[in-house]
Parts: sequence; C-alpha cells; structure tokens
Amino acid sequence: MQLKTPTLIKDQCLIGGVWTGTPKDDVTNPATGAAVGRVPRLGAAETRAAIEAAHGAFAAWSGLLAKERAQILRAWYELQQAHAEDLAHLMTAEQGKPLAEARAEVDYGSAFTEFYAEEARRVLGEIIPTPKQSGRMLVLKQPVGVVGAITPWNFPFAMITRKISPALAAGCTVVVKPAPETPLTALALAELACQAGFPPGVLNVVTGDAEAIGGELTSNPLVRMITFTGSTAVGKLLMRQSADTVKKLSLELGGNAPFIVFDDADLDAAVAGAVASKFRNSGQTCVSANRILVQGGIYERFAERLTEAVSALKVGAGTEPGVAQGPLINEAGLAKVEAHVRDAVAQGAKVLAGGVRHELGRTFFEPTVLTEVTPRMQIAREETFGPVAALFRFETEDEAVALANDTPFGLAAYFFTRDISRAWRVAEALEYGMIGVNEGMISSELAPFGGVKESGQGREGSHHGIEEFLELKYVMMGGL
Ligand code: ADP
Repeated sequence: MQLKTPTLIKDQCLIGGVWTGTPKDDVTNPATGAAVGRVPRLGAAETRAAIEAAHGAFAAWSGLLAKERAQILRAWYELQQAHAEDLAHLMTAEQGKPLAEARAEVDYGSAFTEFYAEEARRVLGEIIPTPKQSGRMLVLKQPVGVVGAITPWNFPFAMITRKISPALAAGCTVVVKPAPETPLTALALAELACQAGFPPGVLNVVTGDAEAIGGELTSNPLVRMITFTGSTAVGKLLMRQSADTVKKLSLELGGNAPFIVFDDADLDAAVAGAVASKFRNSGQTCVSANRILVQGGIYERFAERLTEAVSALKVGAGTEPGVAQGPLINEAGLAKVEAHVRDAVAQGAKVLAGGVRHELGRTFFEPTVLTEVTPRMQIAREETFGPVAALFRFETEDEAVALANDTPFGLAAYFFTRDISRAWRVAEALEYGMIGVNEGMISSELAPFGGVKESGQGREGSHHGIEEFLELKYVMMGGL
C-alpha cells in the first residue's frame, strides 16, 4: 500500500501526546492476506497511563473557550479532508471495503468532526423562572470528564469521529480503543489530531488486549463515561463492568433490521433501497436490512428484480475498479454467514443467487438472495452481518409490524409504501430507534443515530449527540 503521506501509517500508540509501545500485532488485508502494518499489544498498565493523561489534560481542555476547541476540531476536519485519499486507501487495505465506499466513509465520518466543531459553541445552559424574588435557578452544562471509547472494525473511521468529535467538542478528554482488525485508521486519525493542535493527553489511542484495556476503562474511577459500538454481548459485559463505578454509558449494539416492502411500494425504489441497505460494506453494518419482509402481491416480482440487481454486483478486492463487494472481515464472519444460509436452506429456503463462498477464496462470499425464509430460521433471529438478502412473506400490515417487532433488537427499520397514512401508522408502530420510509440509507451527522431495546442506549449525531457528553448542573443562587 502506497500512501501519498506514508507517515500516516503509525506503528505505535498515542498516550499523553507521546507515540509509545513496541509494534507487535500484525494488521492484515482481508482481500489478500498481506501485512498492512503492525501495532503494539498494550494492556491494563498502559491504559491506566492513558486514562491518567486524559485526566491530567481535562481541566485545561474543558477550560478553553468553546471557540478555541471549535477551531482545533475544525483544523482536524480540514486535515481529514486533505488526507481523504490516503485515509480511504488505508481503510480499504485493513478493512476490505471497496474504495468508493471508503471514500464515502471519509466524507461521512469527517462530517461529524465538522458538525461538532460548529456545535461546540452552541452548548447552552438555562435560567429557570424563579420561584422567589431573592433567588435565581440556573442550569449549567458541563463535560462529563474522561471518556473511554471502544469501536468496531466495520467503519474504522466514522465510528471514531462520530463518538469522539462530540466528546471533544463538549470539553471531554478521550481514550480510544479501536478494533484489532482496523487500528491503523484510528492511529492515522490520532496523528492528524496531533497536527491539528489537540494538546497532549486530550486524545489517546491504545491498541492491544481488548479484555485488559476494556477492564481498565470500565473499572477506573477516573473514566466517567464509556461509549461503545459493537456486539450486544460485549456491550452487556461493559455495562456490567461499569456498574461498580456508575459510569455513564452510550451503547450502539447489534440490530436485526426489518425491511418491509408493501404491495403498493415503488418497486424500483424498494429494490435500490434493499441493495443499498443490505449489500453496503458486504452487509457488515449494524443497520443492514437483516429480514426483508415482502407482501404477497409483490413478492415474486421483488424477488426477481432483487436477484437481477444482486447478481450484477462485482466481487473482488476493494482497490479494483467497479468492485461493489469486498471480502468479509475474517473467517469467523464468513463461517456465520455460511451457517445462516445452511440452516435456512435445510429448513426450506430457496437460493435465487449466490449461497456459497466465492471462487476468489479467502473470505469472499457470493452476494446471496434467499426466498421463503421463515421466522423459525437462525437468520430471522440473529444478525447475519454478511451479503445475504433473506426474503420473508407476509399478507397484512399488522402481520408485518408484528413480525418486524418480534426481536429483542431495535436499531433501524425500513419500509416502502406509497400510502401516506400507512407511512405514519407503521413508522409509529415500529419499535426501533431509526426508520427509513422509502429510503435505504438513513445515517447522517445531522440525525440522531441509535437504538432501543437491546440495541443500546444514547444517540450519536445531531445536536442530541453532544448532550451525551454533558452533565447538567443545577445552581440555586439565593440571597439576591
Ligand atoms: P465484533 O464481534 O463485531 O468484532 P465486538 O463487540 O467483539 O464485535 O468488538 C467491538 C469492539 O469491542 C472491538 O474494539 C473489540 O476489540 C472490543 N472488545 C471485544 N471484547 C471486549 C472486552 N471484553 N472488553 C472491551 N472491549 C472488547
């Protein structure tokens, strides 16, 4: 991998403004198996040092004028944009996504830094109409303190900027633990943060032993908040571990997104929406359509058109022109996809496209369409996190809503209809944090992203996103 600025490839961690640690763990390209870089394997002691650095930097950082923090965030955004092409190549190399998607992720991810550079100056307190003449009631908004951020591999860039831009804008300092599969993008972002002028200790990045780092982040009393995106199992573990020190939590966990196509849908839009929602990032997104529920009257036509569209998706290394589907992140991810397909077929599902590993080998899987999928199958209950469109059949609106809500998860849901009354009814009835109506791509820095039920708590993005990192302080001023 040749970057225009090779110094963006780091092999050390950032603690207290110092690049530190011995490069040890290989980072590999899932499309080729080639080594991309190497990062340190740090543990509890180094994490403690990073937390202490963040704690040491907190008073000065939170004490800056909002405008001063905003200017540094803005400079970081400009650097992300200036190095967009390198950052996209780095992401494709360590994560596997097509270059076009990696470029789109830099745009999407950097928009959070840009937006929160602006929001930093709009953290407003309140004055409450007083209950007595001699006093005044005020509400201050203050940063939570040191934040531990643990991020996944599916969006190596955006999951970091989406979490830490609002945290830094609010005046918090941060310790980031990126996913072991994709630490290089995180370290490149840290390098750019240093160039942007964040003071030492404000942003720290540690790579290595997830359990040890997570254990320290969740038990150390200096950390006041954990923000996590990843699996529901790890989210629950972090929540339990954070209980003893009563940390604030923002959790973005698994989904099991329903994608409902009603008989009156615009077929072209529904097919395009399903491809965008299901096959982006090879289906490895937490808002990917996992259960495509199709009404009886449109079922056969939708299945046929979706199969045509899916069969046209080019599979290959993300750097090749025209590729729409990269490899899956690792063998475990591939094995899960295979198991879901096998289980569905054994119980009567039909394969209209794909269904097997791709002839390219490694972790490539053929974009797949299954029909006659039923709620008994594994694919109905668990997030597949791969390129498999599973089509269920339903007859009535009530049945669709009941099927859609029949899961412990509640992150994103989508539906396609041209009936405006139904659009309101169904949007209100779905137990999800985010709804796409006639739309398969819903994420934006301008909107609150997050889930209900076991998909998590807290919101990222929009003016709500910065509130997660702020505490309210009520001040009663008497004797006036
Ligand atoms: P996935 O299965 O998609 O990799 P995970 O929830 O395991 O999802 O990973 C998301 C993030 O959580 C990664 O950064 C990973 O290293 C981290 N992680 C995994 N286990 C733990 C743990 N016990 N404590 C803290 N972080 C963890």
